[in-house]
Amino acid sequence: MPPITNHLPTADLQALDAAHHMHPFTTNDELGDKGARIITRAKGIYLTDSEGNEILDAMAGLWCVNLGYGREEMGNVAARQMNELPYYNTFFQTTHVPAIALAKELADLAPGDLNHVFFAGSGSEANDTNLRMVRTYWAQKGKPEKSHIISRKNAYHGSSVGSASLGGMTYMHEQGGLPIPGIHHIGQPDWYAEGGDMSPEDFGLKRAQELEAKIVELGADKVAAFIAEPVQGAGGVVVPPSTYWPEIQRICDKHDILLIADEVICGFGRTGNWFGSQTMGIKPHIMTIAKGLSSGYAPIGGSIVCDEVAEVINACEFNHGYTYSGHPVCAAVALENLRIMQEENIVAHVQNVAAPALKEALDKLGEHPLVGGVNVSGLMASLPLTPHKESRAKFADSGTAGYICREHCFANNLVMRHVGDRMIISPPLIITPEEIKIFAERATKALDATYADLKDKDML
Ligand code: PMP
Repeated sequence: MPPITNHLPTADLQALDAAHHMHPFTTNDELGDKGARIITRAKGIYLTDSEGNEILDAMAGLWCVNLGYGREEMGNVAARQMNELPYYNTFFQTTHVPAIALAKELADLAPGDLNHVFFAGSGSEANDTNLRMVRTYWAQKGKPEKSHIISRKNAYHGSSVGSASLGGMTYMHEQGGLPIPGIHHIGQPDWYAEGGDMSPEDFGLKRAQELEAKIVELGADKVAAFIAEPVQGAGGVVVPPSTYWPEIQRICDKHDILLIADEVICGFGRTGNWFGSQTMGIKPHIMTIAKGLSSGYAPIGGSIVCDEVAEVINACEFNHGYTYSGHPVCAAVALENLRIMQEENIVAHVQNVAAPALKEALDKLGEHPLVGGVNVSGLMASLPLTPHKESRAKFADSGTAGYICREHCFANNLVMRHVGDRMIISPPLIITPEEIKIFAERATKALDATYADLKDKDML
């Protein structure tokens, strides 16, 4: 057997992959028959596959490669840190410079009094931290029964037992006996899919008030926290109506409920501000971070915690942590990512250049007969596909149109993901208006080809 490198033929690599590699969120048997796409290199916003295709990555990997691919500074910093101190833990009264420096940098970047960081290896782990932290907070304050957590249907907060329980995706709960007890889900502010004839503003208010109804049902003295993404990502890029977040904030304040903003996707510039909480005008007690923290170059996540919660948690031994909490190489890479983002004014680029250009391109794509609307906040967006534009009707066979469109995107060297019948866009934040034009050309071709296929299948 020759060594397994990029030089092996694609079919051989695919056969080895099918024989030994279990992919996440995949029916592996079906994939094995077809063969996985093998990505070998990447630069800027483009991926190269084992067949030499150059693919425009309009998903930034999994919403994370905010800086774009191939930044050598990041690799250099990782190599330097590996040689100096590849690992040490932050348990048992020890620390190291990358963890100190990253915590300080995050405290400076985060709004208000979010001044304390508990590190994790991923968004899932960070949300597990949050679950235990908010329950511990209330227990330390003499209210152990204030332990229930309210989240939203169709939310995604991770794949571990705790974070998937916080999530509201029923198909995830069906596997593994989730959710764990004490977690409740209210409706999401998805006006496009669920708003019917209501105005977006009335619908936003109605969905926010479901939180108050749930708190009253459970008793405010039993509810620890509400968790939500400022703009829901994996649920289909659900941009809430303008009335939603002010009402949620009012309700959390009134009932003394901690607010956890899951910034795993929204954080670090995606919505045109450093954090989605700033875009939505909310004041969370805890923010979950991951993905864009290191632009996906190294696995790292965490919870940024406000003074009030940190003061209570810091007064006890919080029996929680991960071997890789604050991993020095990951922390050094994250610091370099944040340094480059600031040096190159990437958040301002999103707000002033890239987001307006994307909005213009999406508004044009929104005129396509297959597209029912445009959901967009900064550089995260979705285009819902519909058989009937005026009524925002859904396809009877949910997910087929989205799948067909995604396959046509691939055939046109474009990565757009589909969530049901919504096409999802979340490119690297460094994308230029010229690159957005190329994105739109490829997306139009994919939409046209999808339209033709759906006509052939009598789905339109
Ligand atoms: N929260 C949100 C909002 C996410 O989008 C994700 C990942 N897509 C997670 C949490 C989980 O992060 P990870 O995959 O790093 O565990």
